[in-house]
Amino acid sequence: MHPVSIASRSRLRSSVPYMAGLCLVLLLAACVQNPVTGKNDFLLVSEDWELQVGAQQYAPLRQQQGGDYITDTKVVNYVRSVGNKLAAASDRDLPYEFNVINDSTPNAWALPGGKISINRGLLVELNSEAELAAVLGHEIVHAAAKHGARGQSRSVGLQAGVVTATLLASNQGYNAQVAQMASAVGAQLINSQYGQGAELESDLFGMEYMSRAGYDPQGAVELQQTFVRLSQGGRSSTLERLFASHPPSQRRVDENRATAARLPKGGFTGEREYRSAMATLFNTREAYEAADQARVALQQGDTRKANSLVQTAMRIEPRESLFHSLAGDIAMSQNNLNAAKQSFTKAISLNGNYFYNYVQRGSINESQRNNDAARADYARSVSLLPTATAQLGLGKYAEGRGDTQVARRFYSMAAQADNTVGQQARQALVRVQPDSNSSSDNALMVTQGLTRNGNFAIQIVNQTSQKIGNIKLGVTVDNGRQQTLGVKQQLLPGEKRLIETGQKLTTSQANRVKVVVLGADVVRR
Ligand SMILES: [Zn+2]
Repeated sequence: MHPVSIASRSRLRSSVPYMAGLCLVLLLAACVQNPVTGKNDFLLVSEDWELQVGAQQYAPLRQQQGGDYITDTKVVNYVRSVGNKLAAASDRDLPYEFNVINDSTPNAWALPGGKISINRGLLVELNSEAELAAVLGHEIVHAAAKHGARGQSRSVGLQAGVVTATLLASNQGYNAQVAQMASAVGAQLINSQYGQGAELESDLFGMEYMSRAGYDPQGAVELQQTFVRLSQGGRSSTLERLFASHPPSQRRVDENRATAARLPKGGFTGEREYRSAMATLFNTREAYEAADQARVALQQGDTRKANSLVQTAMRIEPRESLFHSLAGDIAMSQNNLNAAKQSFTKAISLNGNYFYNYVQRGSINESQRNNDAARADYARSVSLLPTATAQLGLGKYAEGRGDTQVARRFYSMAAQADNTVGQQARQALVRVQPDSNSSSDNALMVTQGLTRNGNFAIQIVNQTSQKIGNIKLGVTVDNGRQQTLGVKQQLLPGEKRLIETGQKLTTSQANRVKVVVLGADVVRR
């Protein structure tokens, strides 16, 4: 019905000189058939870009939003089994993945490349496997039909450089840099609205996938009714983020009703199956509500109330790592560091894959001068999700052992934060700046990658505390002749700049480009 056909695009050979400004290559906007709708799209999004964005941003985004729900693995296994059935019925073969995020906001999202998440808070609003299939089918269409790429503004696209690990793969802190950059980009991707056209398209084809996978498409009608009901509900705190990327509407209810009428009647509903698979979530719902209220109370400075609520939450669901983490935050706010550390350790024992507990325990260890433990906690947290706090801490330890190059790298990453931690990092950068005679290679961190359009881009970070100008880069392809690229702009201390070359490349071509710093000057006034 909707054949998978991704028109092949002509690709540039690696012998073509890459740099814009040195040569102009006219790119014809390829007319590509959309794999889902079969319509022609004027999109210059490479599949490489989609896959890289999905693969690189999926994990940090889940971290940013509360980490995965793992307390009852039956929940995520069930979500995956339903998701995989729909993926198999979809129009596009992608490396689909499904996870449950430990957050009470009723939401779900898809990244390019088929990386899909559904929040715990949405699962407890659904009534049947068919409704879950409606959510996942809808998200699968967003990914398969490239809605994420289509919805992006040009400015977002510029930032969405996917950095490939060719130049600095062996350097400490590099992956952290990628993840930090990637998660900011990913947040923009999943929080931007796709537009009503894309929503209706996702509903329509999602219902088609449901029907193909044997589900009753009526589930999508009921789901939309639930969405409309939720959006009219009085829960103002979650309303803002509620379906940020998928605004519900009566029109969607009506359209889904019409679509269901066109599709074969009947199919699997799975109400009993759903109740059984989600039993833990339904049974512990009050615990999460108490914990959410405890978080609010803590923010308002009412630690007594926060403490009593989190105790309630832990009584109902003692296995939930987040509750112990919250207890740790409450203890920290009371300056009870030993109790806080115990809570974070307990939280880590229940879920060892959430960055936050490591950052918090790391900062306690740092203040208690348990340096090795602090460093290990910070390093683990940065591998999950880079934060300025952990990077500043790691920078200090590197500086302490005399490794100024690594220290500079961590400081310059932390320096990008717009808060007191960033300020401390900028001050620290002054201490570890290279003397003016040394090679400018150390002063600039250069990475390379593809933007959403598959254009080759180079990113430079000024790792010094001084303004840098007159930057000259050398670009070599497959050990061929080196071309020189002058960067017009000056870079402020800690500043990061993405230079788009306008050259369209595949990932493997991009990986064969070598970029080095030929020279740069400190700008003195
Ligand atoms: Zn949507």
